[in-house]
Amino acid sequence: MVSNDFQTNELTAILKSCRRLSNILEIDKLYSVFAEVLTDKFSIHELAILIYHKTEKKLSLVFSMGLGDINVEILETDTGLWKSIYNGEPFDVSNDSGKLLFPKDVKQFKLEGLNSQLWVPLGVGDELIGLVTIGHRENNLPFDASDRYFLQQLSAHAVVCMNTCRQYEKRRKEKEDLDKTIQNLSLLYSIGKAMNYISDLKNLLQYILSKAIEVTFAEKGSLMLYDMETDQLNIRVLAGMEDTAFQEQVNNNEIACRSFKPGEGIAGRVYMTAKPIVVNNIKEDDIFIDSEKSFVKSIACIPMVVFNDVIGVINVTNKRHGKAFTDEDVEMLKAVADQAAVAINKAQLWDMAVTDSLTGLFVRRYFLVKLQEELHRAERYKNILSVVMADLDRFKNINDTYGHDAGDRALKAIGKFLQQNIRDVDVVSRYGGEEFVIMIPEAANDAALILGERLRKQMSELKIKDLPPITISLGIATFPNDGSDIEDLIKKADAAMYAAKRAGRNRVVKYTPDIHLVRENHPETIQN
Ligand code: GH3
Ligand code: MG
Ligand code: MG
Repeated sequence: MVSNDFQTNELTAILKSCRRLSNILEIDKLYSVFAEVLTDKFSIHELAILIYHKTEKKLSLVFSMGLGDINVEILETDTGLWKSIYNGEPFDVSNDSGKLLFPKDVKQFKLEGLNSQLWVPLGVGDELIGLVTIGHRENNLPFDASDRYFLQQLSAHAVVCMNTCRQYEKRRKEKEDLDKTIQNLSLLYSIGKAMNYISDLKNLLQYILSKAIEVTFAEKGSLMLYDMETDQLNIRVLAGMEDTAFQEQVNNNEIACRSFKPGEGIAGRVYMTAKPIVVNNIKEDDIFIDSEKSFVKSIACIPMVVFNDVIGVINVTNKRHGKAFTDEDVEMLKAVADQAAVAINKAQLWDMAVTDSLTGLFVRRYFLVKLQEELHRAERYKNILSVVMADLDRFKNINDTYGHDAGDRALKAIGKFLQQNIRDVDVVSRYGGEEFVIMIPEAANDAALILGERLRKQMSELKIKDLPPITISLGIATFPNDGSDIEDLIKKADAAMYAAKRAGRNRVVKYTPDIHLVRENHPETIQN
């Protein structure tokens, strides 16, 4: 009966102790509770937990108590110590009189510091998981059979709990990584999608830079594009600068910011090598040019590459809170830069296709597409839409007198003048050699006439270096009164413009049905 009671008490103690280890999910917490249980039970002051590393064939310390700052590693050998470990049962490392039983190993691996009396192997079946070393008991009491039984049972349970913790930790880490990956991918996806919708190069560049800064938690940045003509990298947009007025001017192309030659500074080097550069401690690095050093604490510079050509670089500067840019930041930036490069390339090609290289105005083909769109809108909303044809007066004389280059220079200046003197909703295009066409949506008949008259007057006063004043003749046709499709409107605006030529040039004529549609009298033949 007494013996039964004793056994029941022992088993209850084991169960209670096991329960303390259950439901712990963090491995460090498990080690410390395991140590607590053993201390409570055996009144020990020293304890160490070592974990076995299969590939490196060694036990290394993961937790200790009462042993100070120690670092223990026990390489696997074929000595008696390891035989005892593999035996799986708790075993003494010193005898009753305190003499060491494995003096060679203790010496070789400097195990004196563990102050152990008993070692308890931790394992599942034949597989070794780790080891617990327990220091001397108070009064140097030996561990009896029931103590060893307790230790064996508790250790078996501890191993199960350790595995649970490890699995949990692994899953938690995997989930965290996966969450992060999904978050990054969805961010990149939305950035990529947004880029596709921005066809205007300036807005696209600003969007790309703002996202590059956002994903890396940087303070500011710049985006540079390579210009083949000048063979340099030009800063095209800035973001996050203290001097917002300066930033605004650079972003609006009003002033040119610093340029970099290939190979010069960080950006130039990234351009040359097509490889990202990250510098987190600027002072120690010598590849910076002086102006970079003054305001930069950390920088990540990433190339934008299309078909093996670097088209520009993205710089992000000063990671927030004085932190350093990480590998993960660089990976994210690379992904943004890859998408950006394609989008920028597309926007540049688009710009090239729709704009006239001399004047920077839209080409005729694209203008007609825009005009058709606008006409549909005007039909739907019952709006008025005017088309203004404009032809320079006696332009041939300019070429003949001042040369073709001077003529080109005049066309460029006039293109800029027209662009600057229409409203945002109006669209101007270089329709042909020295002919321009303007679309004026939602304008009443008079509005186009007023605009045309203003342009005519301002043109006659426009000063172009070394050239006499150049005048312009304009013809206006308006939807729906004068025509219902774009061909008709253009034909009538053109006829009105020729009527203006016939009437003496430097004037605006609104189409009326009595104007001949066929160019019977070529203006060249009209003398005034
Ligand atoms: P007007 O229109 O008043 O009747 O006389 P015009 O001399 O301007 O005659 P027209 O419009 O027919 O002349 C077109 C001239 O414009 C012919 C050509 O010398 C010039 N031109 C056309 N395209 C270009 C160009 O791209 N560059 C230069 N420099 N000249 C051009
Ligand atoms: Mg002409
Ligand atoms: Mg002309």
